[in-house]
Amino acid sequence: MKVLHQIDGSSGEGGGQILRTSLTMSMVTGIPVQIKNIRSGRNKPGLQNQHLACVHAAQAISKATVHGVKKNSQQLVFQPNAVEAGEYQFKIGTAGSTALVMQTVVPALMLAGKESILHFEGGTHNPWAPSFDFIANAYLPMLKRMGIDIEVKIDRYGFFPHGGGRWSAIIKAKTAMQRLEVLERGDLLSQEAVISASNIASHIPQREITALASLDWPKDAFKSEWVEAIGAGNIVSLRLFYQNCSEVIESIGRRGLRAEKVSMIAINLLQQYLSAKAPIGEYLADQLLLPMVIGHGGVFRTSNPSLHTLTNKKVIESFTDQIFLFNKIEKGIWEISL
Ligand code: ATP
Repeated sequence: MKVLHQIDGSSGEGGGQILRTSLTMSMVTGIPVQIKNIRSGRNKPGLQNQHLACVHAAQAISKATVHGVKKNSQQLVFQPNAVEAGEYQFKIGTAGSTALVMQTVVPALMLAGKESILHFEGGTHNPWAPSFDFIANAYLPMLKRMGIDIEVKIDRYGFFPHGGGRWSAIIKAKTAMQRLEVLERGDLLSQEAVISASNIASHIPQREITALASLDWPKDAFKSEWVEAIGAGNIVSLRLFYQNCSEVIESIGRRGLRAEKVSMIAINLLQQYLSAKAPIGEYLADQLLLPMVIGHGGVFRTSNPSLHTLTNKKVIESFTDQIFLFNKIEKGIWEISL
């Protein structure tokens, strides 16, 4: 048996991303890995449903041998075999984020040479994770620039706490991969404010739209839609489409949070992104490192790197001899290259 690569899940940011990135890197390099102290600093440490779903998904596509995979476990061993393209169903029993499951398996499947079809069931619009719309409108367009073509379609939304969202992704067979290069946003092509709601009072989306008026965007940029979901749910999603990149900024409604406040949170996050001036937002920055190292590298500019980005860099580099360079260009703008 190959020597197990050791990962300390409590290092850096100390969250579930260390686990997910380790699984992906293990699959693409073939290096078996032992992860200890998984999410040890979190309130509920160890593997929770969303993390278990990621391990099971990685196991399914790589026929991996695994040890220690049970709820709350803080250590596991993952020994992958070759990744196989195919049609897979990934179901999280709860509202846990399906987007994070997708981001665990996509970088491995994009190398598999054939088309894959993935079906997800669980949370689609979660706080602290990319939403389905972030995946569709911010993450996938960047992958497309790298030569990775993925189509997604949502059938049912999955809001917290009911989950039950359903969507699918088709990962097209790999063609030529390209280096990513995003140094500037380029011209603003369009902007959208989309309010999605299910099983809540109709005055809530109306008040959210009214509270977005200060954006001063064209009237047809605002859309309100009723979506199918098992339980109640609501999200304000602000989308910016530039020549070279796009950004999706979201605020999730919940009981006890006034509709006006939901919109204000989104507006404040939008102002932060706009004033940062860098093309790639904080969240997308940490998510692009894996496809870059697995694809043909590249360079992008972003705002001050988050702890997630710095931790992801370290975990990825521990599996390869490739090194990401982080250069400060000016106050608040960094260039990340590989
Ligand atoms: P834990 O429960 O241990 O905190 P986790 O498994 O839920 O961890 P993290 O390790 O915190 O997740 O990683 C969360 C991921 O979700 C990161 O890649 C981050 O960029 C992304 N993310 C968080 N919030 C957003 C958001 N609003 N939009 C897009 N992506 C987001």
